Amino acid sequence: MANVLILGGGFGGIVAAERLAKALAPEHQITLVSRSSRFVFYPALVRLAFGKCEVEDISYDLREAMLDRRVRFIEGTAARVDPSERTVTLTGGDIVGDIKYDYLVYALGRRLATEQVRGFFEHAHHLLGVGAAQKFGEAVRNFRGGHAVIGSCPGARLEVPVYETAFALARRLEARGDSARITVVSPEYPGERPGGADLASALQPALASHHIEHLKDFPIAEVTGDAVVSRDGREVGYDLLMLVPPFEGASALASTGLTDEEGYVRVDHTMRVLGAQGMYAVGDAVYFSGPKMGHMAVRQAEVAAENLAAEIEGRAPAAHYKHEIALVVDEGGKDTVYLHKNLWEEGGKAIGHGRFWGWAKRGHEKYFKAQHS
Ligand SMILES: Cc1cc2nc3c(=O)[nH]c(=O)nc-3n(C[C@H](O)[C@H](O)[C@H](O)COP(=O)(O)OP(=O)(O)OC[C@H]3O[C@@H](n4cnc5c(N)ncnc54)[C@H](O)[C@@H]3O)c2cc1C
Repeated sequence: MANVLILGGGFGGIVAAERLAKALAPEHQITLVSRSSRFVFYPALVRLAFGKCEVEDISYDLREAMLDRRVRFIEGTAARVDPSERTVTLTGGDIVGDIKYDYLVYALGRRLATEQVRGFFEHAHHLLGVGAAQKFGEAVRNFRGGHAVIGSCPGARLEVPVYETAFALARRLEARGDSARITVVSPEYPGERPGGADLASALQPALASHHIEHLKDFPIAEVTGDAVVSRDGREVGYDLLMLVPPFEGASALASTGLTDEEGYVRVDHTMRVLGAQGMYAVGDAVYFSGPKMGHMAVRQAEVAAENLAAEIEGRAPAAHYKHEIALVVDEGGKDTVYLHKNLWEEGGKAIGHGRFWGWAKRGHEKYFKAQHS
């Protein structure tokens, strides 16, 4: 019997758990550990902030969902993984202490490294959790005009909610007849990010039609009570601020030598962790280039589960991950953008515009919840 432990109850962890439960014979034990017993569909957090959905619409109870799939669920925080002893130290939850594994899937996502930007914690709103999105939503409701700055800090690996927030805010202000200036701030030029130039040019017409300015090459180093300050000392004042903070890998594998300098786990294209036995990693936690996206986490989890099941059954790994961007930026109407782009191969780029993509994105959210809850 193999004892498989999955860390993280996000897109990567739950898809890995479900795939393994289907692929492995019932004598193998599968356990999922996550800090929270609720799964949250993060791509819907912008809509939550703008009052377009409720928390219950975009989240569900993991303990119940996993029970239905014969996966044991433990609520707890994975403080440390010891790859040589094959143990994980859990704190604060259902179990405190070390638990053993034969095989591990590491899907702890990313850490918000807000400490890298002075004043972020005190002054900036963000959207990377239910509580934070609701707090930002309250600030939006109280915003009566002035300058809204919406952007990314250096090391933030997520552009979609930045643009979606700018569009949602513009539409809200237009509907109320309020006038305000909206600026999207990016830490570098779009061409310096994988897929960034394609996305920026696809979004240009929508930004222009909502009179949203785009300030590029503005790496935020500090946030004060009324301005963001770049590394070279330029300042932009704000009355409303939402920033995606810098990301880093989760800390449970720190000092094992299995991560890069930003804490992301090194894996091969079968999603096996380089330098460790019986360990796979998926999702925002891994060191692949470009944006950190849910659809990547799902595909990586499928690949990891297939190869882990093969390893347990003594077969060679057959599934290989291909790194691609597939995203929708919902503008709320006809200027919604779809982008698909291969990041490891030349060619394979597709761009679409239209209302359809917004419906497709919201439909996908409902489909995901129906399939997995
Ligand atoms: C506002 C917003 C909008 C987005 N929009 C899109 C979009 O439109 N399209 C898209 O593809 N992607 C989008 N994303 C990105 C997408 O949500 C992430 O890429 C995806 O969630 C990554 O999945 P993951 O499983 O790797 O990590 P996560 O979803 O972050 O899951 C990590 C899990 O691990 C748990 N955890 C963390 N640390 C510990 C610990 N120490 N111990 C125990 N448990 C722990 C967490 O509670 C969580 O359950 C968006 C994200 C946000 C925040």
